[in-house]
Amino acid sequence: MSTNKTFTMLKPDSVEKRNIGAILEKITASGFRIVALKLTQLTHSDAEAFYAVHNERPFFGELVTYMTRGPIVAAILEKENAVEDFRTLIGATNPAEAAEGTIRNMFADSISENAVHGSDSDENAAIEGQFHFSAREMF
Ligand code: UDP
Ligand code: MG
Repeated sequence: MSTNKTFTMLKPDSVEKRNIGAILEKITASGFRIVALKLTQLTHSDAEAFYAVHNERPFFGELVTYMTRGPIVAAILEKENAVEDFRTLIGATNPAEAAEGTIRNMFADSISENAVHGSDSDENAAIEGQFHFSAREMF
């Protein structure tokens, strides 16, 4: 079953490079409505839990260090077919392979520091959104 919500993080590199405004503008111009939004920072254990599926991968330690080194922007987004359409909007994990005009093509530097997260399923979108936001923070 597909729902109309997804979850994103503008990762620490996007905040450091002052790209929050430009990326949010691209997201809303692409038809997504912001349901919830905050500047926050992942703890080490948050990042380990969030990326637990990758904990055997060689890049896991580097990924946790990167994702915890500074604030992120967490957001829940709404649009028809949100999960799939947002993955299309952000582009491939490796920005060198991301299509022209995608967020990772425009704002990411490398496969590890790739500007944004996008949920990969409706189930994970709900889990990830609820991790960051209480009911009174969703509009
Ligand atoms: N990542 C990395 N090296 C890799 C693959 C992934 O550093 O070879 C990082 C990158 O930040 C990526 C995250 O791990 O966004 C999660 O990987 P995944 O395969 O889930 O990619 P995504 O769903 O973010 O496109
Ligand atoms: Mg993923």
